Amino acid sequence: MWPRSPPNHKEWQGSGTTAHFGDIVLGRCYTYTQIVRPELRDKDCQKIQEAFLKSFLSKDPCDATEQDYQPLIELANQTVPCNKTVFWSKTKELAHQYTRVQQALFTLENTLLGYIADDLSWCGDSGSSEINYQSCPTRRDNCSSNPVSVFWNTVSKRFAEDACGVVHVVLNGSLNEAFDRRSTFGRVEIHNLHPKKVHTLQAWVMHDIGGVRSDSCSSSSIRDLKSIISERNITFTCQNNYRPVRFLQCVKNPEHPSCTSGI
Ligand code: NAD
Repeated sequence: MWPRSPPNHKEWQGSGTTAHFGDIVLGRCYTYTQIVRPELRDKDCQKIQEAFLKSFLSKDPCDATEQDYQPLIELANQTVPCNKTVFWSKTKELAHQYTRVQQALFTLENTLLGYIADDLSWCGDSGSSEINYQSCPTRRDNCSSNPVSVFWNTVSKRFAEDACGVVHVVLNGSLNEAFDRRSTFGRVEIHNLHPKKVHTLQAWVMHDIGGVRSDSCSSSSIRDLKSIISERNITFTCQNNYRPVRFLQCVKNPEHPSCTSGI
């Protein structure tokens, strides 16, 4: 009889913690604080790594809470200037191509915590102090309160609460619904904007070049977004194929008619 699960037993349906998780967290923290945003050079990356590990080690990976991440969030605390917040939903690559060019703008992944955690997977186990590299719970097959989902919900909420002035969102107009109430943007971020601080949400609905034009500013999903935002006393504006972002799409498709005339 094994005292616990045997070492290669896959308990959960999701992939396990990313190999070298601790080293990646530490390395990304140093890259961000020393090179990407040297104004944060005084952050203590050793402490940040320790707080990140503590947030989920020796804990039930189906019972993660916002509180688990509070020490990490406090250590990594960072101010995003007003008018510079960019949300995205189903447009990860394009939104980041844009903020890479416009370095004054910040997505969550352009802040320290989002930068450290982006694309990583992690979980532990209540009966052991070890990292689980074999498998982690997924939202769909196991539980919604898993460490990765709770982390993104918690930091997305905080990112939205901290926003001020005009905020932006890049949406995917080639999907049936550019705005999805069930996405993190629709479920968490818009509901945590503070109307006293955020006066306008500016949506940029981008269509894939050569793709279908399924959804646009005049569609029902965007009307849905507008009504949620307006009810919260925040002004809503919307633009299809916002030109500066369109130009980035055109880099890969310079000969497409939409890139050679009228954009
Ligand atoms: P989306 O549907 O394009 O999701 C973005 C990615 O995050 C996808 O890979 C998705 O599977 C994953 N994801 C979303 N919610 C998750 C959750 N609760 N648990 C685990 N993974 C989750 O767009 P979205 O849902 O609107 O999320 C994007 C917005 O929310 C952005 O504005 C960003 O600030 C934040 N966010 C970022 C990440 C990330 O992985 N970098 C994840 C969740 C949320």
